[in-house]
Amino acid sequence: MSSMSMADVRDAIAAVAHEFGKDRNERAARTALDRNDFEHLADAGFLRVGVPATMGGLWTNVAGIVRGYCELVREIARADPSVALVASMHPAVLAFWLAADDGSLRPQAERFFETALAGHWWGTVISEPGSGGDPMRTRTRARRENDRWLLTGTKHFGSGSGVTSFMITMARADDEPEPDVFVIDMRERKWDGSTGLRMTRAWDGHGMMATQSHAFELRDCAAERSAAANLYAASAPIVGQLTPLLFTAVIMGVLDSAAELARGTIGARVAGLRAYERVAWTETSNELWLAEQAFEGALRSVESNHRGALAAARAKLTVAGLAESALARLGRVVGGASYSRGQPFGQWGQDVRALGFLRPPWGYAFDQLIALEFVD
Ligand SMILES: Cc1cc2nc3c(=O)[nH]c(=O)nc-3n(C[C@H](O)[C@H](O)[C@H](O)COP(=O)(O)OP(=O)(O)OC[C@H]3O[C@@H](n4cnc5c(N)ncnc54)[C@H](O)[C@@H]3O)c2cc1C
Repeated sequence: MSSMSMADVRDAIAAVAHEFGKDRNERAARTALDRNDFEHLADAGFLRVGVPATMGGLWTNVAGIVRGYCELVREIARADPSVALVASMHPAVLAFWLAADDGSLRPQAERFFETALAGHWWGTVISEPGSGGDPMRTRTRARRENDRWLLTGTKHFGSGSGVTSFMITMARADDEPEPDVFVIDMRERKWDGSTGLRMTRAWDGHGMMATQSHAFELRDCAAERSAAANLYAASAPIVGQLTPLLFTAVIMGVLDSAAELARGTIGARVAGLRAYERVAWTETSNELWLAEQAFEGALRSVESNHRGALAAARAKLTVAGLAESALARLGRVVGGASYSRGQPFGQWGQDVRALGFLRPPWGYAFDQLIALEFVD
């Protein structure tokens, strides 16, 4: 397969996102993914974000790719936040194998990268009810049977279910203290329990409505174990920088669209704004500016290899709070029409709330920030 540069992929993704953007309001009301969207993104080269440059992909190291990857998902999110969030999982997941510098992992990693080059999407269904988003609290069991692993447990929030070919998850082998990373091949796997996987709850989120982040029960579900011991911990220093910023980039894309649409309507009547509306808009603008500074600052920390994990975690949490606040305030200035489902503001207000719940969710994120600041 011929190679594409980051700039090639960026241009191609911009063209696809431009097409998506023509249906932006209709997309905002969707509750399901459209496979065609993912084919267009794959054709534009997006799947190469999960492949090393040495194999024709875009990955070099986290400092080299973070800005480019974030720009791609931000661009998609301006047109369709749900599609962008599902797409962001692909590099976030394959980054475990891209980041690990472990020779024993190489044959498995290359096989997985080949799947991305062949057009397959990767996702994650690690979260478990009751874990509070902390993978180390995984209760799903892994049982070895001859040369394969069988997983049993409950999982939820599997974004991209139905579109992804492979889902990573975590499970605990009976005689081991820490959970490990496993890969479930979702191709041809029914969701009725006949092949170890049963959908227990279809996704019904208030926001990110179309992400198909379904809940599942695993019962002796066959999975492939990571070839490197303790992959999660080994990759965390890299994945912990990339993933929060990818999620944040999705929300920055939503803020871009909201700001652009609001500026259009408010700018047309700026001279007639009441005093309160002027204040509320200025405060909204300040919050949007602060969100941009937080995001940019974290990108620079990662790019300069200076406390990137702390900066990425801080930016995710900071932007989550600012985005919720800015969208609520912005509605007061745009007016009651923003409360109509005929306009996307209400949906965007729900979409941006996802950032605080995405891994690490609020409580876990605060614990992590304290640890990164004082313990590391
Ligand atoms: C839009 C979005 C997409 C996400 N995508 C992914 C993904 O692709 N992969 C992934 O692994 N994680 C994903 N997550 C999950 C995220 O990473 C956290 O794990 C999750 O938000 C943590 O939830 P929690 O803090 O409520 O803890 P939890 O421990 O998960 O939940 C707390 C309690 O709420 C209960 N509960 C949870 N869901 C429901 C429900 N629907 N109805 C009733 N009770 C419920 C649980 O039983 C538990 O007792 C996604 C989250 C969001 C918001």
